[in-house]
Amino acid sequence: MRETVQAFIGGAFVDAASGETFDTIDPATGEVLATVPACAAADVGAAVAAARVAFDSDRWSGAVAERERATVLHRIADGIRAAAEELAELEVRDCGKPIADARADIDEAAFMFEYYAGWATKAAGDIPPVGPDALNLVVKEPVGVCGLIVPWNYPLLMAVQKVAPALAAGCTTVLKPAEQTPLTALRLATIAAAAGLPDGALNVVTGFGPAAGGPLLTDPRVDKVSFTGSRDVGIHIMRECAAQLKRVTLELGGKSPNIVFADADMAGAIPGTCDGVFGNQGQVCSAGSRVFVDRAVYDDVLSAMATHASAIRLGSGLDPETTMGPVVSAAQYDRVRSYVDVGRAEGASVAFTGTTPDDPALAGGYFVAPTIFEATSNDLRIAREEIFGPVMTVIPFGDVDEVVRLANDTEYGLAAAIWTSDITKALRTAKAVRAGVVWINDSQPAPTEGLWGGFKHSGIGRELGPYALDAYQERKQIYIKLS
Ligand code: ADP
Ligand code: MG
Repeated sequence: MRETVQAFIGGAFVDAASGETFDTIDPATGEVLATVPACAAADVGAAVAAARVAFDSDRWSGAVAERERATVLHRIADGIRAAAEELAELEVRDCGKPIADARADIDEAAFMFEYYAGWATKAAGDIPPVGPDALNLVVKEPVGVCGLIVPWNYPLLMAVQKVAPALAAGCTTVLKPAEQTPLTALRLATIAAAAGLPDGALNVVTGFGPAAGGPLLTDPRVDKVSFTGSRDVGIHIMRECAAQLKRVTLELGGKSPNIVFADADMAGAIPGTCDGVFGNQGQVCSAGSRVFVDRAVYDDVLSAMATHASAIRLGSGLDPETTMGPVVSAAQYDRVRSYVDVGRAEGASVAFTGTTPDDPALAGGYFVAPTIFEATSNDLRIAREEIFGPVMTVIPFGDVDEVVRLANDTEYGLAAAIWTSDITKALRTAKAVRAGVVWINDSQPAPTEGLWGGFKHSGIGRELGPYALDAYQERKQIYIKLS
């Protein structure tokens, strides 16, 4: 069912100016799913120009009442819900995840538009008091044209996480989906246009990072770049954007601790810890991939996790029985497997490894068996480097002070999970861990109403909730003399 798709620029579906294309792959089979325009500077320039016109002409941003923007965002949400099953299947075919997970992503993406539709009419400013002879207004205005560069692990959700608050704030956008997973972003463009979003407010440029994302960093007509992806690309983006003092939001990687205390309710802790590492094939920036287990319960927890993990069923994401799909690409397959070799070579022992599907139809798929390593030290590479695959590293600890020290002994600081029935210990540990998101007796929930973002090398700025809206707004003071 190979199809040919087009980029979305200025309200029209178009090929790349060069005519160049690339293929997006179904990772469950390795077969070509669609042929996609390989956009480059000319196309990105056209998209930025369209976004600039949409912003500067007040087609969307200033002259359009907030409640009209809200109405359009609600209609986009309705469009996503109406196409939910089609979007979920497209997402599965493009990135490999199990269909139930894709359905949850699509549902949350629709909700994000509803949520930010609500904020569009509520972004009030302030009136700081300045004495009797003046009135001082602090108003919020959209940042401008935003370049939104997103990854492949939650293709539609990560796109909407940026597009919805940006549009709600009155910004216009150029979205660059990951080259591995461009298809649902293009469907979003169709839905948004049908919902009445003006031409140029959302453009989608498909293609590879440097060619299709790079021009967003250097084009002076782009006011802000919001990026989710790897740390190294994040550093590059910040450096490039610095030259023009572009605003940046960076959501980068992690090596998040998952701490299991001896007094945890194991009925929740065991599946929660496993799902926190193996969910989405381990391709989660906040994966709790460093699992610290209290020595007092270490052997029992390890064997319970191995038992739990042995029930994971790898297969095509379209099969409703599947609980783990393929990783996204051949490159990711090689990378994750090489980390399993690294772990072995470093002397970590394999406590569990799963089995890949034997269905011949999936022989060309990128299936990586889930693996649990026992490590004696937090200094191993498999305890320090983000693997972004279904690989868990388990490390024993003695007491709270030791585990907090180990948890914080990382360059990253995105998330942490803490499992205990002692509320004081839970909260003391939560306060001590240097991470942007802490879960107690859970792992991975990221409600749209909440907050997302990391400390240290996990990024700069915050997404979700009102924090994302804020990131797409400038503040302006209007001081009025009254005497
Ligand atoms: P991964 O290595 O997991 O694919 P990346 O950080 O490389 O993660 O990719 C995340 C997003 O950033 C993708 O959309 C990718 O195309 C884009 N990207 C990668 N390199 C660059 C770059 N030099 N400039 C702009 N965007 C880039
Ligand atoms: Mg693909």
